[in-house]
Amino acid sequence: MTTPASPRRVRCPTCGALAVYDATNPWRPFCSERCRQIDLGAWASEGYRVPSAPQPAEGEEHDPPPPGARH
Ligand SMILES: [Zn+2]
Repeated sequence: MTTPASPRRVRCPTCGALAVYDATNPWRPFCSERCRQIDLGAWASEGYRVPSAPQPAEGEEHDPPPPGARH
């Protein structure tokens, strides 16, 4: 069997360095554990800041759609 001469590499999303993208790199697609932690931390801090969209009160009815408007 032939194997690729060079391992697949990707750009580390955090620092931009080339990171080996295969089973030998447990932090893929990052280049190191540090970069992985940095990215996860940034993602989590943003992800938890979900803006609360105003929800219409239940039971509040607006104009009903005209008959025949629906597909
Ligand atoms: Zn990196």
